[in-house]
Amino acid sequence: MKDVVIIGAGLAGTLMAIRLAQRGHKVDLYEKRPDLRKTDISAGRSINLALSDRGLQALAMADLDDKAKELVIPMHGRMIHSIDGHKTLYRYSGREEDWINSISRPGLNSLLLDETEKYDGLQVYFDHDAARVDTINKDITIKTSDATAKLDVSDKIVIGADGAGSSLRREMQRRSNQLRYNFSQTFLDTGYKELCLPAGPDGTFQIEKNALHIWPRDGFMMIALPNLDASFTVTLFMRFDGPNGFDTIQSDDQIHALFDKNFKNVKNFFPDLIHEYRTNPSSSLGTIRCYPWQIDGQFLLIGDAAHAIVPFYGQGMNCSFEDCLILDRCIDADEGNWDAILKNFQSIRKQDADAIADLAEDNFYEMRDATADPVFNKKRQIELALEQEYPEYYSKYSLVTFKEEIPYHKAMALGRKQDEVLMKIAANTDDISQVDLAWVFETVKAVDG
Ligand SMILES: Cc1cc2nc3c(=O)[nH]c(=O)nc-3n(C[C@H](O)[C@H](O)[C@H](O)COP(=O)(O)OP(=O)(O)OC[C@H]3O[C@@H](n4cnc5c(N)ncnc54)[C@H](O)[C@@H]3O)c2cc1C
Repeated sequence: MKDVVIIGAGLAGTLMAIRLAQRGHKVDLYEKRPDLRKTDISAGRSINLALSDRGLQALAMADLDDKAKELVIPMHGRMIHSIDGHKTLYRYSGREEDWINSISRPGLNSLLLDETEKYDGLQVYFDHDAARVDTINKDITIKTSDATAKLDVSDKIVIGADGAGSSLRREMQRRSNQLRYNFSQTFLDTGYKELCLPAGPDGTFQIEKNALHIWPRDGFMMIALPNLDASFTVTLFMRFDGPNGFDTIQSDDQIHALFDKNFKNVKNFFPDLIHEYRTNPSSSLGTIRCYPWQIDGQFLLIGDAAHAIVPFYGQGMNCSFEDCLILDRCIDADEGNWDAILKNFQSIRKQDADAIADLAEDNFYEMRDATADPVFNKKRQIELALEQEYPEYYSKYSLVTFKEEIPYHKAMALGRKQDEVLMKIAANTDDISQVDLAWVFETVKAVDG
């Protein structure tokens, strides 16, 4: 039974640590930040997330899905707010039992950290920065506020779950020639800023509770996810420069004008709008692809460290949790042979990480632009009708979000084929109620082969 060192007690690192401890491994988990259960999480740092079936399935592996479900607010669909204040709910699925869940990031991370305390073999070290991983000398430089020390990892498995700025991945990049290491990072010209839409004076939700709200606008958008305290975490996605850009909209008058024009139906729900807009950071969004994810059958990247993606499919955390599940299955398959386990893991997961990265970028344009497009919305209505009528039919969104047994790359391939056919049908349809659903179903099935 190998000892394991995990870098990063975020979402993936903590879940993986728990699972390995359940399997009987001795696990040391190093986290550079203080214990988030004892500190205030800074404003504007992605407060809530959409948790869906892939994430829940991975949590179930560690018997934590039911506990996580106690922290969620179901979101049944997208509530689209048009510029004139008109609202329309588009369900995520035609099946009643399919929805996604809003969950607090610190709440979920705290649940996982609480769970780590149940295992004698699992030790978490907060305020320990794994500043440098040396994969040749097999040690990690750990920095704390008062000391720097080298941790010998020569006979341990090391998992880098240290997010988009991973130390372990930096080390792999340093050895890029020898490892023939591939790395790319691409940024969107759009960034994000989080704002808070608080609960109403009587502690009620000021907009529909069980929905993910979207205000699609010309080249930018705003979204809102509900929190258990009846507030909403609102995220404004805008370009950094240009007419509706964070760098351009800075004065009080400009901020008021942006909201008066585009988000009038909720503007008055933000008591602290100007202050929050000015003080909360405008953060960038990007995609990181790299390969290999493992070295020497000993050092492995998982989660955002291996594949940071843009947040528009609500799958970054779900995919990172799914990594833990797939790694667990690889451990079952090649028990004890870590070289085989890590190689098998990366070869299974790379194509899925690439697929969800592509889908997430596509979905940015879908949420920002297509949700305001009548043809797209007709297509969504046809998809929902198909899902209601034909249990075996899953739209692309449902394949990715609710069909956890289908890998992302297969969901993408099938979903894209279906989309192509359905968009054509929607473009040629004036009245959805007149569509011959049986014919549409057969046509889509024929394309799927
Ligand atoms: C705006 C936004 C919205 C999002 N919405 C969703 C969503 O709705 N659904 C979804 O599934 N995903 C969403 N995501 C993606 C999700 O946040 C990430 O995919 C997920 O957090 C990845 O988990 P992780 O554990 O790999 O990395 P992280 O959560 O980033 O955790 C990494 C941990 O490693 C620690 N660390 C870093 N460096 C070191 C070091 N040198 N030493 C020790 N510790 C270190 C960090 O402090 C951190 O605790 C969103 C992301 C953003 C930015």
